[in-house]
Amino acid sequence: MTEEKPFRVLLYYHYVDIGDPQQFAEKQLHFCNELGLKGRILVGKEGLNGTVSGPVEQTQKYMDTLHQDQRFKDMPFKIDETDGHVFKKMHVRPRKEIVALKLDEDIDPHKLTGKHLKPKEFYKEMQNEDVLLIDARNDYETQIGHFQNAILPNIHNFRSLPEWIERNLSGCKDKKVLTYCTGGIRCEKFSGYLLRAGFKDVSQLDGGIVEYGKDPEVQGKRYDGKCYVFDQRISVSVNRTDKDVIIGHCIHCGKSCDRIVNCANPECNKQIICCEECEKAHHRSCSDACYHHPRNRYSSECDTKPEQEAMV
Ligand SMILES: [Zn+2]
Ligand SMILES: [Zn+2]
Repeated sequence: MTEEKPFRVLLYYHYVDIGDPQQFAEKQLHFCNELGLKGRILVGKEGLNGTVSGPVEQTQKYMDTLHQDQRFKDMPFKIDETDGHVFKKMHVRPRKEIVALKLDEDIDPHKLTGKHLKPKEFYKEMQNEDVLLIDARNDYETQIGHFQNAILPNIHNFRSLPEWIERNLSGCKDKKVLTYCTGGIRCEKFSGYLLRAGFKDVSQLDGGIVEYGKDPEVQGKRYDGKCYVFDQRISVSVNRTDKDVIIGHCIHCGKSCDRIVNCANPECNKQIICCEECEKAHHRSCSDACYHHPRNRYSSECDTKPEQEAMV
């Protein structure tokens, strides 16, 4: 047993009718500030999507309080231990959707979603040769880690996924499909979209990669590399059976690397895989244009890590 760390990171979502998202968001912000939590929460009429960090006791209080609310009584929390906060601030934002798929006709996962598979079933099913294993995440996430033999759509936004599927997999609608993402929230809608698009047999990884890596039996098997996360840790380990496999490459020197940084040109801010030596040599830039950009912030903030901006 390793000793418990003083902080926790919580990752959670739940699709449920929130009523007034604006009001709910204000209450959440107040409560989180009171507890001293930091992180990012999206609130929509359709539900809640959050990730926060804080001391063990305060995160416990947060979970207990949400579980006392009938609407969230069964909401699962994925818990990671950590040494300190992994966010700089606390944001709670009302949004139209808690994950933006931006379909003309939205998917309600309570009405239409793929079958939920626990890690053990998912592990078994993905070894079936005839299955389509689709990674529902973005390119900057999949490039540092993914399941073996997964289809990796090269999309930069979740909302581009339906179009990619139409272009590339519309002839495969009779095949059995398995989908996965970080914590499961994107697959709730994405698997619903696939069913509506005519795919006949669609299943999703319940709890996502994060839960898969915690399953005591499966232990992250068949996942290569790291799992990208939307906080200052940037990535976490999944596979506990193999030695760490590094599947990414530094964009400048090409050496094996899974270190993700944001391009130092704030107008670009692209997430790139870049080794430490090249970060210095290239001022953490993705290109010559960004290196020479007048707003390049590398030299002015060398020692502070920029906060991740994205959240799905
Ligand atoms: Zn390099
Ligand atoms: Zn750039």
